[in-house]
Amino acid sequence: MSERHGRTDRLELDDQSLREWDAVVLDASPEGVVLDRSAFYPGGGGQPPDHGVLLWGGVQTRIVGVRKGDDPLLVPAEGDPVPPAGTAVRGAIEDERRTALMRTHSGLHLLSGVVFRDFGALVTGGNMEPLEARMDFNLPEVPEGFKDRVAAACAAEVAADRAIEVGTLPRDEAFATHPDLIRTATNLLPPDLEVVRIVDIVGLDTQADGGTHVASTALIGRMEVVKMESKGRGFRRLRVRIV
Ligand SMILES: [Zn+2]
Repeated sequence: MSERHGRTDRLELDDQSLREWDAVVLDASPEGVVLDRSAFYPGGGGQPPDHGVLLWGGVQTRIVGVRKGDDPLLVPAEGDPVPPAGTAVRGAIEDERRTALMRTHSGLHLLSGVVFRDFGALVTGGNMEPLEARMDFNLPEVPEGFKDRVAAACAAEVAADRAIEVGTLPRDEAFATHPDLIRTATNLLPPDLEVVRIVDIVGLDTQADGGTHVASTALIGRMEVVKMESKGRGFRRLRVRIV
């Protein structure tokens, strides 16, 4: 099953390992290119958009971002030629950046799962760059050795190599069968969303989510908890690095 976003088939939602594909340009302007099929993750849920290229007739258009609108709009590098509507192109995702973001994003799921399971704290915010991220929690009292205990638990979950599975459920069914699905302090899902994408670290954490993830926790790699900052009453920020 493939999912659409406006006129674009979102290939990355079905196959997070896809890096190259064929497509046709539906619309083009210096502001952006709309494809009939795209594996560029447009950004969202804290995960930044992909970078990559479109190749056509010996010409290369570098894609440096994606704007979310009615259709995902692939943003060309300034000055690069843009393929006109109707052009057949080969799309390619910059693998190093995407793979780093998949590892980082999956690492944040693991972190939020561990902190909820072991300390009962909910996520209040977060942000990520390739291989670096922060996540904010509501945790009124900081237990003794909190940072080191979180680091040890994350290392154990990476070593356990749990499967990370992605699926979709109709909205009503999703919330009926997973009442604590959105493990953030506020419900961030748009009310008109009919199908919920579910990301499950089997045995640890289930989240409603639209990003891209690696297939198991071992593929996250080593996660370092760099530091904990107290930003206000109950507001704790953990900074992590993936190495
Ligand atoms: Zn996710």
